[in-house]
Amino acid sequence: MFHNKVINSAVLLSGSNLGNRVEYLTFAQLELLQAGASILKASALYESEAWGFESSAFVNQVLIVETELSSDQLLQLLQVIEKKAGRKRIPTSGYAARTLDLDILFFNNQIIETADLTIPHPRLHERRFTLMPLHEIMPQYKHPVLQQTVETMLAKCPDMGKVEPFIAAL
Ligand code: ATP
Ligand code: CA
Ligand code: CA
Repeated sequence: MFHNKVINSAVLLSGSNLGNRVEYLTFAQLELLQAGASILKASALYESEAWGFESSAFVNQVLIVETELSSDQLLQLLQVIEKKAGRKRIPTSGYAARTLDLDILFFNNQIIETADLTIPHPRLHERRFTLMPLHEIMPQYKHPVLQQTVETMLAKCPDMGKVEPFIAAL
């Protein structure tokens, strides 16, 4: 009897604006690998001003991963990794500085709407800091709800926030 495991493709956005930001993004990749996920592609690192709140600049990266985890299990794993990275959650305080934030942008081509999870991520098309790294590695991917490619969403995105390649200080 064969028990073929289902392999899911997920697109993640990692972000950090506290402490050694690049180290937290690297930590996230190592933790994903340790949990059995494969990283198929990683974008470059991008630096941007905090979006929607007053805070220090973020470094962001998009990862394409393959995993046997379901979307719910993946969200749980991401929250464990955020916690391990020392992220402190202050309930009902809105956006806040964080050592590590891991969001699921896409999961296969699925549309998911539960109490804990909305996929595609509901704000990805409004955010230049998400669309820029996405565009680097999957410009022709079509958003399953909006039915537009990443390229089109980026061209139409009114967000004027500055997003630049992150250059590490030597
Ligand atoms: P934003 O979602 O606007 O980027 P945020 O990342 O700061 O904001 P968090 O405080 O990290 O928000 O997450 C709040 C909740 O969002 C999580 O507890 C999770 O249940 C929920 N959530 C819904 N959809 C997603 C998704 N696609 N990826 C990650 N978390 C999600
Ligand atoms: Ca987020
Ligand atoms: Ca999040």
